[in-house]
Amino acid sequence: MSLNIKDVKGQDQGQFQARLQVHQPRNQENRAKNHVLRKACRHGVERVSQVVGDISQACAYASTHLKWPDKVILGVPMQLSSSIFKAYDIRGVVPSTLNEAVAEGLGKAFGSAARAAGETVVAVGRDGRLSGPALSTALIKGLMGAGIEVIDVGMVTTPMLYFAAHTLCRSGIQVTGSHNPKDYNGFKMVLGGRAIYGDEIQGLRRTMEAESWVLQMGGSVRQVNIEAAYQSRIVGDIKLARPFKIVVDSGNGVAGATAPGIFRALGCEVIELFSEVDGNFPNHHPDPSKPENLRDLMAALKSTGAELGLAFDGDGDRLGIVTNDGNNIYPDRQMMLFAQDVLSRVPGATILFDVKCSQRLAPAIAAAGGVPLMYKTGHSLVKAKMKEIDSPLGGEMSGHIFFKERWYGFDDGTYAGCRLLEILSKHPDGNAVLNALPTSFSTPELNVACAEGEPHRVTSELQAKAAATFPAPAVISDIDGLRVDWPDGFGLVRASNTTPVLVLRFEGQTPEALHRIETAMMDLLRSVKPDAKVAQAAH
Ligand SMILES: [Zn+2]
Repeated sequence: MSLNIKDVKGQDQGQFQARLQVHQPRNQENRAKNHVLRKACRHGVERVSQVVGDISQACAYASTHLKWPDKVILGVPMQLSSSIFKAYDIRGVVPSTLNEAVAEGLGKAFGSAARAAGETVVAVGRDGRLSGPALSTALIKGLMGAGIEVIDVGMVTTPMLYFAAHTLCRSGIQVTGSHNPKDYNGFKMVLGGRAIYGDEIQGLRRTMEAESWVLQMGGSVRQVNIEAAYQSRIVGDIKLARPFKIVVDSGNGVAGATAPGIFRALGCEVIELFSEVDGNFPNHHPDPSKPENLRDLMAALKSTGAELGLAFDGDGDRLGIVTNDGNNIYPDRQMMLFAQDVLSRVPGATILFDVKCSQRLAPAIAAAGGVPLMYKTGHSLVKAKMKEIDSPLGGEMSGHIFFKERWYGFDDGTYAGCRLLEILSKHPDGNAVLNALPTSFSTPELNVACAEGEPHRVTSELQAKAAATFPAPAVISDIDGLRVDWPDGFGLVRASNTTPVLVLRFEGQTPEALHRIETAMMDLLRSVKPDAKVAQAAH
């Protein structure tokens, strides 16, 4: 039997009222208990208010003093904005849509879901954002209330939290706003070894809204520093055939605390840019997918004569690469190199990439003896598909690269950077190798703002019209929105899963092909959405 306690806390005077209700109230005994509890509450408002302030104490108090059953469901009122529950993570603005009450509620909901799945241990980490410590503390409190043994790994990159969740337990939550503006924060979650997304995240929302979490005794927390274990795992795996002089730009994101040391441990000479973790991001924003955020790195490469530049996003799961002659090697070109390397040891393997990637990638994978598989955009979706088909490597245009071969299958900017150096160390001129990777002329990622719910309607209409509009040799794909491949380039229009926008990308083997394809795709789009206004993606 379980009890449902809902407290309604007066915001100003800190006063407290409680409404207590025993489940299955038809039962005579429960009705009697219900009565006793109501009475206890009326007469002991102060005391109950105090103990309810702390969930584990409330549970202890309930079971020892009031002889409540040991499983208690307890609710803390919380203003929930459904907009924070995204397709792949939870994300919001602090404190308006994301605050400590939400973090604690998530802890209880996730803890309940974890226990229901047989998981009792959850690792918790946080990136370098200013709101991280408070949100992490509240999250841990909620998890403990659900009876979870929490392993607090402190301030780490998202991949280091994944590492903890793969080596110390099977579940984890990272408090992170990734590359979003500094007033954002959020949660990336792994449950039982899988990144959760979609319906599972909506399930957590429903639990939080209904306050239908199951709280229990037995919660605990211990601090574990995983930096040494993480570093030695990487250093034990990566062997450089020659040393490198590199520039590492962490953009004051959390990778700055660990990545430079790991590259030094591999034998590199490292010039650091903005390694100091600072949630105000005082230099440039930690998002290497935006060319303007790579300017400092390019300047440092020029002034120091270093061979290669590496940049990380705010939580360290994405990697940017710049050559010493100032070329930004986009992730779809990185994937060509990674695929060749992985396929040299896992011949015939299927290599996954998302619909935003260059048309040049699939032939490069096939030429290296692999099976190219284009898939939907979304890091949780790619990870799940890789698991399903046992793929050793996947990657997204956004910069998430997933190594399963020699690694755990999660995206890790630092590890990807190390794998890149390992490959390039076998060549006397790493920049020549990178610059020789096939490339095309392409637009950056473009967005068309839409009304809520409009993007999926638009993409369905585009899919319906595509076959009549684009005859062979055009190849039409509806894996994720509409992608049309011509012999000399491609166009993509897909619905974002995270914001109400259409995501567009165009590529041509010549500037003329790029222009032709962009015009053809935009004509089709405007036939469905005449007011479509194209802007550079604002991530
Ligand atoms: Zn990230």
